[in-house]
Amino acid sequence: MNMAEPRVFVYAGSFDPLTLGHEDIARRCLKFADRLIVAVAHTATQTKDRLFSVDERVAMIEECFADEPRIEAAQFSGLLVDFCKKIDAPIVVRGLRAVSDFEYEFQMALMNRSLWPELEMVFMAPAGKYTFLSASLVREVAALGGDVSRFVSEPVLRRLQKRSAR
Ligand code: ADP
Repeated sequence: MNMAEPRVFVYAGSFDPLTLGHEDIARRCLKFADRLIVAVAHTATQTKDRLFSVDERVAMIEECFADEPRIEAAQFSGLLVDFCKKIDAPIVVRGLRAVSDFEYEFQMALMNRSLWPELEMVFMAPAGKYTFLSASLVREVAALGGDVSRFVSEPVLRRLQKRSAR
């Protein structure tokens, strides 16, 4: 990568929905990235317990980062490395909450690198108060009528409330 060019990083995940933990990681990235693409993976989300469509997740990411022009939302299907190659962004950011995340993330990093040797993965820790937070927990608590306002931003909260009001 030519260092004179803008440094574009990719933060990939299912983001179903985007939590304050994800937001924390994304905003921290701007300390060293010129632009960050928050990319919603189609592949990782074909599980039964998905809540929002990929388009809704992208829309929420756009709303949550409306104040930050350097962060944009995207979606991709297929391999993350192919998406990164296509947009010429060889650095992927991942959040590490606990040691339990480590083994899977480490395996993925090495697999991704074997698929595309130029790829680098950067691991970041969120603020301590978000280390227990996951999108699946937010989905569960919201589905049971619990208050998740401390864990997600306003645009996500609004959509969660609309869902549970149905
Ligand atoms: P989740 O595990 O919450 O369903 P994703 O699959 O969308 O989230 O994860 C995308 C990336 O964000 C992964 O690298 C994951 O480790 C990271 N991440 C998820 N929640 C948090 C959090 N609370 N703090 C830091 N990183 C997180």
